Amino acid sequence: MFGTNPVRAQEAGDGSSLWVQEIFYTLQGEGPFTGEPSVFIRLGGCNLACYFCDTDFESSTWRPTLAEIFDKVKALQSKARLVVITGGEPFRQNIVPLVGGLLERDFTVQLETNGTLYQDLPWCSDLFVVCSPKTPLLNEKLAAHIDAYKYLIKDGETDERDGLPSFSTRQSGAPGAIARPLPGKSVFVMPLDEQDEERNVLNIKASMNAALKYGYRLTLQTHKYLGLR
Ligand code: SF4
Repeated sequence: MFGTNPVRAQEAGDGSSLWVQEIFYTLQGEGPFTGEPSVFIRLGGCNLACYFCDTDFESSTWRPTLAEIFDKVKALQSKARLVVITGGEPFRQNIVPLVGGLLERDFTVQLETNGTLYQDLPWCSDLFVVCSPKTPLLNEKLAAHIDAYKYLIKDGETDERDGLPSFSTRQSGAPGAIARPLPGKSVFVMPLDEQDEERNVLNIKASMNAALKYGYRLTLQTHKYLGLR
């Protein structure tokens, strides 16, 4: 969290068990599935350490088997037809069996990724990749499968030419290149939560203006407004 997490490499496991931070039922708060009842599977560890990251993906010691994960999803699912796999960085672990098993159970699966890693998933129309770029380059093989991009907008740290971030995710205030979307894909802009009311108002305005000026879609972290996870 907040750039202090260990940077963890991609693991070589067979995917029969995974390091899981938490599994919970909620409403998807942001991006293309906003408002959808969803089961979230948050996996442990990330291969990046962003200074603004407010997610805990390191404190769990839970390493359930796939069967335990599917049981938990079934117990929680209620009305959910969407499972969101997030992190940390979900592509860091072998999620091929997990994704395959969820698709077999007729779930739509949304992956939230920073776009730097790749795995040969059972690509299909029920598998949806939302990439929030944090680095200058994305994984070339993954880029072909990205359905939507989501950019965190911080007031004063965007490029005038396209309204997207142009500053480092590693160090606050330091210029840095961030990968741009492939043409024709949905682009969402979302205000960065700086845990500071005044700054957040500026970030909301900057996101709104970027959407109006460049034709992106504004998305807010509505789960935070609703008091949900
Ligand atoms: S890539 Fe995402 S999960 Fe990983 S540290 Fe950055 S913001 Fe947090």
